[in-house]
Amino acid sequence: MADLYSQLMRMPVTSTVGKKIGLPQPVELARGSSDVGGRVLLGGAGRVAEAAARVLAAMGADAATALDDPVRESAARAGLDAAVFNPQAPADQKFRALVFDATGIESSADLVELQRFFYPTVARLQRSGRVVVLGGGRRALEGFTRSLGKEVGPRGVTVNLVHVAEGAEDQLAPTLRFLLTPRSAYVSGQVIRVGAGAERAVAGRTALVTGGSRGIGAAIADVLEREGASVVRLDLKNADIELDITAPDAPEVLAERFSDGLDILVHNAGVTKDRTLAKMPEDRWQSLMEVNLLAPERITDALLPVLRDDGRIVCVSSLSAIAGNAGQTNYATSKAGLIDLVTGLELERGITVNAVAPGFIETAMTAAMPVGVREVGRRLNSLRQGGLPVDVAETVAWLAGSGVDRNVVRVCGQSLLGA
Ligand code: NAD
Repeated sequence: MADLYSQLMRMPVTSTVGKKIGLPQPVELARGSSDVGGRVLLGGAGRVAEAAARVLAAMGADAATALDDPVRESAARAGLDAAVFNPQAPADQKFRALVFDATGIESSADLVELQRFFYPTVARLQRSGRVVVLGGGRRALEGFTRSLGKEVGPRGVTVNLVHVAEGAEDQLAPTLRFLLTPRSAYVSGQVIRVGAGAERAVAGRTALVTGGSRGIGAAIADVLEREGASVVRLDLKNADIELDITAPDAPEVLAERFSDGLDILVHNAGVTKDRTLAKMPEDRWQSLMEVNLLAPERITDALLPVLRDDGRIVCVSSLSAIAGNAGQTNYATSKAGLIDLVTGLELERGITVNAVAPGFIETAMTAAMPVGVREVGRRLNSLRQGGLPVDVAETVAWLAGSGVDRNVVRVCGQSLLGA
């Protein structure tokens, strides 16, 4: 359900007035489907194009390449039946997604290839469209994708950059599928790094979601179940396991409960206890830290031995951890501490660890904000609206099913706050 302001901006009279006075016009984002939902244009020439074409072919995507684009040969080798696109074609020839392999850009002088591919095509993107740039690590691509995201975001279009490590081209599939479909509705302006880790489908695996009885945690559990996982929801009440994660024996209880093995561990339970630091007594600071960081650390330590090969750990961090937020020194410290877990945890046996960092998500937590703060929070992103719990959940499901490792992915509609 769209927020009230978005509903008003989609009604004829109020939207006309809104446009006249320059108010943001949030479009309704497409969600849920695992299909691209329209034609994909593939371009650029590098080492990843062929792998991208194979992913598109496997998705049954309706694809096109420009006649003189070197990517045509890669597409043909990958078995992708791509139509010819003529950049002079009438403007009503639209695309749902643009995928550009920028790994062939070797010198700075070649960066002009970005302009050459996108200049005749960007205006052809449909609403809720997708742009994915495939890179090999060049920083220049980050400036490009983040700026383009801000230009096209108001139309519900997302723009993301995927750096693919040398030799990891075949591991692109789960990430490209996610980024090209409506499942990544609220993920934009992100830089994702794909390494050698292999895809591991969620179906048939056992997952534990903390804080799983409502809000984002319930959505994560629902989406993992939709993908075929057997999900155990842990919460203080109304859950499969009713447990306070800060209880001294919680790690032991969970290790015992999953002594036969666990595949996916999602640290989602979290609380806020906002107050500026000058008014933050130690017990307020520490009781939050117990829930948001110390308990996840202890539970991770206890569950690592029972985590099966190719296990997945996903932490729910926060945009506050990255951008900082007045009144949230305790919360931001705890949520950034979860990112330390992502970068520092020693893992083996194919186990991965990642974090999602939600921005403004429509939940009980954000509904409790003062109205002014809430309204500003909702609009300060490229998509001009808050995200939904399912947007975070789809991102967690992608990370749980892919081999992506040590990434922190913001689910924030490309919030204008923070880097
Ligand atoms: P929520 O309050 O609706 O849900 C949190 C759940 O965690 C609740 O069901 C609660 O009972 C459970 N929980 C809290 N303490 C617990 C404990 N000690 N033991 C077991 N369970 C416990 O919050 P939400 O908005 O769904 O947020 C979920 C996560 O996402 C949190 O970690 C939050 O910090 C994070 N997050 C939310 C937003 C947002 O905009 N809503 C933004 C960034 C990050």
